[in-house]
Amino acid sequence: MIKRRKTREIDVGGVKIGGDNPVVVQSMTDTKTHNIEETLSQIKRLADAGCEIIRVAVPTEKDAEALKEIVKRSPIPVIADIHFSPRIAFTALESGIHGIRLNPGNINDEGKIREILQECKKKNITVRLGVNSGSLEMSILEKYGFPSGEALAESALNWSEFFEKVGFTKFKVSIKGSDVLQNIEANKIFAEKTDIPLHIGITEAGPAGRGSVKSAVGLGILLYMGIGDTVRVSLTADPEEEVKVAYQILQSLGLRRRGIEIVSCPTCGRIEVNLPEVVRKVEEKLDGKNIPIKVAIMGCVVNAIGEAREADIGLACGNKSAILFKKGEPVKRVSEDQMIDQLLKEIENLET
Ligand code: SF4
Repeated sequence: MIKRRKTREIDVGGVKIGGDNPVVVQSMTDTKTHNIEETLSQIKRLADAGCEIIRVAVPTEKDAEALKEIVKRSPIPVIADIHFSPRIAFTALESGIHGIRLNPGNINDEGKIREILQECKKKNITVRLGVNSGSLEMSILEKYGFPSGEALAESALNWSEFFEKVGFTKFKVSIKGSDVLQNIEANKIFAEKTDIPLHIGITEAGPAGRGSVKSAVGLGILLYMGIGDTVRVSLTADPEEEVKVAYQILQSLGLRRRGIEIVSCPTCGRIEVNLPEVVRKVEEKLDGKNIPIKVAIMGCVVNAIGEAREADIGLACGNKSAILFKKGEPVKRVSEDQMIDQLLKEIENLET
């Protein structure tokens, strides 16, 4: 069991973050926010995939003005992502948003940041205080020479202190660098010094395959250390993919459970059925189903009986056939061409 870091609890539009709450999964739309219908339809798809809080980019006044309608119809809390412009931040704060993301380093005006925080306090809006390696303030860069983990942590600690000094405590911090080790170091230093909830992610991780690996390594290490109250996997891919990968990471550490877990063997020279095809088809058919069960699909008798017994449903394959297991008990022998249908039928029975 992972012992999670004890953090203070905050909420974003009713979704609780920190404290003893489960790690929350977030994502970000890739539509133009002012295209209201397109943005809402993506938010709905993401919510169906398990996204619990959504962030939308707000680079223009037009986007900020669209927020009102988006917030009203979104099934999940909405965070406005603001960079550089306090003016756009103020427009966004009038829209009913549940949270706002700011990188104080790129607003760089303490007076304006204080005003934004006062407004957030009045309206009960949560802030995500962002520190990114790409937008670190000059004084820190001059001190460290480059955006090291220590530099990122120091910036995050300074701004957190500033927030608290002006009486604002409803915030979480995200410290993001695209370098995995820098990211881990920064979050670790910060986590040791405060109880402020952390949103973690490896920013600009890359395309789906490479980015998922990089995110799994970075987030996996942090989560194993108990760090991380909310996560986003950042991929150059459909945001729904980000949500799936986030759950897979959390599931593999026993921190969340969503959808089916598939255990399948890598195959080897002992294989006597087309296992990759069976697994591919089963995965495709079960995609998007949120049934919390474990399915084992194993290629031969080596390990197969044991794994199939441990799963809710299992196939222990042999010579052009398989033994179907249910809750640890063998149910029947099925031929190779019947395997997928039989397996899906048994899963369906478990659902009802
Ligand atoms: S279960 Fe059998 S086929 Fe699959 S990898 Fe192990 S030995 Fe090979």
